[in-house]
Amino acid sequence: MLIKPRVKSINHFVLESVNYRMGLSVEDNRRYQNQMKGFQGEQLFDQLINHSQQNGYVVNDLFLSSKETHYQMDSILILNKQLIIYEVKNYTGEYCYKNGSLFSKNGYSLQNPVDQVNRKKAYLNNWLLNNGYLHKTKAYVVFINSDFYIYNLPLTKSILFVGQLERHFKTLTNANQSVNAQDKKLAQALANQHNGNYRPDNLPSYGFDSLKKGILCPECFSFAHTDTREKRICTTCGHIEKIADAIYRSVLEFQVLFPEVPISVQKIFEWCRGKYTKPRIRRVLSQKMTKYSNGPMTYYKN
Ligand SMILES: [Zn+2]
Repeated sequence: MLIKPRVKSINHFVLESVNYRMGLSVEDNRRYQNQMKGFQGEQLFDQLINHSQQNGYVVNDLFLSSKETHYQMDSILILNKQLIIYEVKNYTGEYCYKNGSLFSKNGYSLQNPVDQVNRKKAYLNNWLLNNGYLHKTKAYVVFINSDFYIYNLPLTKSILFVGQLERHFKTLTNANQSVNAQDKKLAQALANQHNGNYRPDNLPSYGFDSLKKGILCPECFSFAHTDTREKRICTTCGHIEKIADAIYRSVLEFQVLFPEVPISVQKIFEWCRGKYTKPRIRRVLSQKMTKYSNGPMTYYKN
């Protein structure tokens, strides 16, 4: 049972939007490509875990903040008084294992993902103890891309290659795993701890004036479109969307980019490049959000 679905992180979302509205520096573009590759790997993992029809509760991309550190868990499965963390890596190519690190053919080293996931496991262990849960924790690194190989890897139980996942999930199912009220309570408690507003400090810099205005297609990120009375049709990929939905989607994108700027009809009118009338935008905002006044000005909140 899915308790928390996967959504793009703020980092991913901002890089994506700025990429299509302004363009990214070489360094930011590299980070954007990594975000996309990672997200695709996680989506593939989601498909495989869904397909295995686990009894347990699934909490995806959980972001927990402690005083000193932030921990992002790609996927957590809770069942039968155990909590399993999956760290999904969409690496490609050939690597060599040496003294606890992974090295590419060109000699670049990768942070050891097993150490990484074990730190998350230790943090969650303490969290469970502090909150009165008796669940046992396990952690795995999942290499989700079949085009990835590690030479000289010593036998380790905490690494799963994509070809081993089906058997791994089957073993869990066959162990006649049951779920109980504590499992559900824990899954919900963790989902409630999720910090969805975390903004990393290395986001690209941009301002309202520097971003290209208009509504991006959610499928192909093109601005090109044609409209019927109620629908917006992407002329690049053919995606069809209700105009009201497209406007609201654009409002949500604006909020992620500019969390400090109040939402007004005028601002969204400009953000949509004057394409839709102010009464139409006002209608969407009134339907989807709550109106409030600040002196003579009217704003909208979720
Ligand atoms: Zn499109």
